[in-house]
Amino acid sequence: MDRRGFFKAAGAAAAGAAAACPAQARGNKQLSPDAVGLLFDSTLCVGCKACVAACKQANGMPSEVSTEDALWDTPLDISGKTLNVIKVYKHGTMAVKDRVEDGFAFSKKSCLHCVDASCVSVCPVSAMKKDPVTGLVSYNVDACIGCRYCVASCPFGVPRFTYDSPTPKISKCQLCQHRWPEGKYAACAEVCPTGATLFGKVSDIKAEIARRKALAPGTPTSFPRGRLGGPDQSYPGVASKYVDHVYGEKEVGGTQMMMLAGVPFELLGYPTLPETSFASRSETLQHTLYGGLVAPIAFLGALTWVARRNVKAEEAAGLDPGTTDGGSHGR
Ligand code: SF4
Ligand code: SF4
Ligand code: SF4
Repeated sequence: MDRRGFFKAAGAAAAGAAAACPAQARGNKQLSPDAVGLLFDSTLCVGCKACVAACKQANGMPSEVSTEDALWDTPLDISGKTLNVIKVYKHGTMAVKDRVEDGFAFSKKSCLHCVDASCVSVCPVSAMKKDPVTGLVSYNVDACIGCRYCVASCPFGVPRFTYDSPTPKISKCQLCQHRWPEGKYAACAEVCPTGATLFGKVSDIKAEIARRKALAPGTPTSFPRGRLGGPDQSYPGVASKYVDHVYGEKEVGGTQMMMLAGVPFELLGYPTLPETSFASRSETLQHTLYGGLVAPIAFLGALTWVARRNVKAEEAAGLDPGTTDGGSHGR
């Protein structure tokens, strides 16, 4: 049997076995009622980057310069030294904020703490874990084997590997969980002067999003700062005009950082994604193929059958199967 025939036979056996084995499909995982996260409202962000500096300070991360004078911490993207960046969309004269034509708008990039996280699904040693109560997606450096599957799997390009370190690790936002025992919360939200970044329970974040979206643009209102459900730090403002899309509400099964904006999210650099989580798709496929080990056993059976058939054919032709390879190798 030639190579093409072998793969056809083995593939057909595995596909047949998979078809015979009922699919163990699973849907998207569901949000915990006590999940916490962030709300980023691009229309309130003034681009001060206080959140970037506070994130660095809270997480003990060094500066990252991208200018010749090397005077300022100027990260261009998230990295092993930066867990949170504010980026800007700009067009034409940039005359008006939150407008597509001749406008500009800000976006935040950090881990979105997906409800059904790909990084958690692919990690072979559970170094990436999702807390069943808070929904926090955390990273355990001691368990990590450096395979970087999480890097490849994240639809938002969030986890970064510190290649430049002799002891490399994955770097990503962990919602400042180390501050929680002291009664503190996400440093980026705590410092944000306008409440563009807010920390809170996802249920409260969703209610706040619904409240803002229900207001006609220009309506007098107030905006909370810091932590939803915490001490009142709200200030008066007017309702913004939003695009009809809450980013993170449905993307890949939903995320715990959700976003409002005045310009389309594609322009802010956020990818367009399906509602079905990648984790549910890949796990359904794996469980179907490997359920009861039917497909691997069928594949092994096909291999054995082909090997036996080749040996019989060679014996019938009077050849010693141990010395024939059909080519020039070892001759
Ligand atoms: S601190 Fe708030 S207003 Fe300033 S850049 Fe960050 S999100 Fe925007
Ligand atoms: S954004 Fe990426 S790193 Fe963060 S939880 Fe989702 S899959 Fe994991
Ligand atoms: S929650 Fe903490 S680690 Fe995450 S972006 Fe905000 S400050 Fe940085």
